[in-house]
Amino acid sequence: MTVTRFAPSPNGPLHLGHAYSAILGHDLAKERGGRFLLRIEDIDGVRSRPGLADEFRADLAWLGLEWEEVPAQSSRTAVYGLAAETLAASGLLYPCRCTRAEISEAATAMGPEGPIYPGTCRGASFAPEEAAAWRLDVAEALRRAGPLVWLDERAGEQAARPDLHGDVVLVRKEADTPASYHLAATLDDAADGVTLVARGMDLFPATHIHRLLQALLGLPVPIWHHHPLLLDETGTKLAKRRGSPSLADRRRAGEDGRALADSLRQGRFPAGITLGETLSPDS
Ligand SMILES: [Zn+2]
Repeated sequence: MTVTRFAPSPNGPLHLGHAYSAILGHDLAKERGGRFLLRIEDIDGVRSRPGLADEFRADLAWLGLEWEEVPAQSSRTAVYGLAAETLAASGLLYPCRCTRAEISEAATAMGPEGPIYPGTCRGASFAPEEAAAWRLDVAEALRRAGPLVWLDERAGEQAARPDLHGDVVLVRKEADTPASYHLAATLDDAADGVTLVARGMDLFPATHIHRLLQALLGLPVPIWHHHPLLLDETGTKLAKRRGSPSLADRRRAGEDGRALADSLRQGRFPAGITLGETLSPDS
């Protein structure tokens, strides 16, 4: 059975780009007689706004979508901690106390998510009480996992290249944000039985890391469907477009959500908005 999910973070309201992604995931599951899940990714402690999850549910219902909700990330932090301990116990994580500025200064190459961490803290030791982020030793992980591939429904088979990211953070320094997106989303998709990860092209590079984590943690491997992104006139991702009405704004203004959903399905977008395959430069 095909199981897809929509996994928004309650850091800000949903926009048309979110609607497009949710409708696509919903329709991919329904066309195949499968299940469509909603998961609230609410572990970004500083930015998370609890009331927004209810707005998201109202937005999805307004678009005419049906879903099953699975537990929010904030209820799963023990699972993330256990997985991190497993990786740390097998020598695949190391603590890092570098600041963003220090990394920018020391980095010599750019990866898909910014400067590639130059490995400054690999092999260093800290007093255990010192707050640190925990990074994955990607070279060692790849040595143990061997060559990996993953399948995107649209782009075909991909050789996994987690090395393009360098040693990513899996456990953050901030105590209220325990797991990085990479670790949490990978564990959640496995726990929720997601078989088809439908999400935007901006997350295509992250899949290299997720595939490696699946191998290291013995998790099932889904198929991916990375969809084009709604872009504004300047070619940037729509989600953060300034001044554009959110789904909640449209809903409260009395717009017909089902009609909007059908327009998006048919590729009819508001003026100035296009679908693009290019990766968002600001994501
Ligand atoms: Zn470091």
